[in-house]
Amino acid sequence: MDSDAAFQIRTAGQVGPTGRPLPDYPQPQPLASHGPARIIAMCNQKGGVGKTTTTINLGAALAEVGRRVLLVDFDPQGALSVGLGVPVNELDVTVYNLLVERGHDVRQVIKHTRWEGLDVLPANIDLSAAEVQLVGEVAREQILARVLRPVVDDYDVVLIDCPPSLGILTINGLTAANEVLIPLQCETLSHRGVGQLLETIDDVRSFTNADRRIVGAVATLFDGRTRLAHAVLDDVPERYGIAVLDPPIPKSVKLAEAPGYGQSVLTHAPSSKPALAYRDLARHLLEDAR
Ligand code: ADP
Ligand code: MG
Repeated sequence: MDSDAAFQIRTAGQVGPTGRPLPDYPQPQPLASHGPARIIAMCNQKGGVGKTTTTINLGAALAEVGRRVLLVDFDPQGALSVGLGVPVNELDVTVYNLLVERGHDVRQVIKHTRWEGLDVLPANIDLSAAEVQLVGEVAREQILARVLRPVVDDYDVVLIDCPPSLGILTINGLTAANEVLIPLQCETLSHRGVGQLLETIDDVRSFTNADRRIVGAVATLFDGRTRLAHAVLDDVPERYGIAVLDPPIPKSVKLAEAPGYGQSVLTHAPSSKPALAYRDLARHLLEDAR
């Protein structure tokens, strides 16, 4: 990955997509050693809000600054895996097998992408059976956490791309995570599902007895020319008490195109606005943890 471009973006006070100056997030410093990972679930039970797009591109942006990143495809659609060029229909073993069968080694299932530091735990349509199969399992909410445990120290960040439902897969994603990001599209003010999602996160918090920090919402499909998009940025913190992270991710055809080339937008269109936005979001996230 050509990482030089990543270091030349944003100077202090530069205006972001909202028209407000962006905070000057510091350049992440190289790490001397890796792990244990922050595990972040990308959650929203609504489809088409940018979960998969954000997982791929935020992951690529974190890898670009030297973080070791594992992307967990946890949606039976397999869009994340396909979007990074993994031939999902040729795989004998995916995250599904790790969930429902014993005796697999997660390291054997993880695929390295062409980009240094960016790995994928792939899924395909097989995963759709898990929703039913896991129902009878003991501690069925904690299976993904168990699956990931052996590799947590190998990575700096694990991003889990949750499916568009609040079923057992999403509960597993939330249980495995210690942080949550909520992609929200800026094309509608109706974020009715968010209250229910926050309740689910709260339930997971109480039965696991562990804190799960809601880092905030990622505003996606942002079109700064519309009043609606700005209204979303104002409305969400007020109504749900969660932060909307800077910067919003602009609506851009480059983001829709990139998966067709098996790439993130960072390599497909390295200096495009969405590439810059995901790089800034990555810096924000790294700064936020300190
Ligand atoms: P989810 O995983 O929440 O279902 P996706 O990430 O798959 O959502 O996004 C849904 C569709 O919208 C995809 O076709 C994707 O390429 C497109 N998309 C996502 N974010 C943007 C954006 N910022 N600008 C333009 N298209 C986008
Ligand atoms: Mg998706």
